[in-house]
Amino acid sequence: MEKKIALIAHDNKKEELLEWVTSNKKKMAQFELYATGTTGESVEERLKQKVVKLQSGPLGGDQQIGALIAEGKIDILIFFWDPLEPMPHDPDVKALLRIAAVWNIPMACNRTTADFILTSSLLFEKQDRVSPKFEEYQNKQIDPSTPEKNTRPE
Ligand code: PGA
Repeated sequence: MEKKIALIAHDNKKEELLEWVTSNKKKMAQFELYATGTTGESVEERLKQKVVKLQSGPLGGDQQIGALIAEGKIDILIFFWDPLEPMPHDPDVKALLRIAAVWNIPMACNRTTADFILTSSLLFEKQDRVSPKFEEYQNKQIDPSTPEKNTRPE
């Protein structure tokens, strides 16, 4: 099954992402691509490859990608966020980085790490990452009458 890669680049990082996808055009063709709105438009135009485009990042696109990760629908996140510019959607950026860590997916926040991921021998193997086990967390009974007992499991 084709792996699904999510691509996001902040404005100052878009050109770098476009160069990266262009220099990896053949590999990109072997993936199903997802992206936030503006990033998706430019990647699609550059690669002439279909990209599933979500909302623009500041309008909720990062959160949509996060939701897809939580649903197990994204295998790899390539997120060239801008470390030198404050963003109106900083909370969404942080939430996305967090959810990718929660679900243990490979995540690159810069070009070097993206290169490491793309040259990994695991890239085209069947998904064998250790999936987090959240049963205990999810099965915890919440009793509104005893809020003091509703602590998260250790
Ligand atoms: P964009 O969103 O691809 O729509 O520019 C990216 C972001 O700012 O998170």
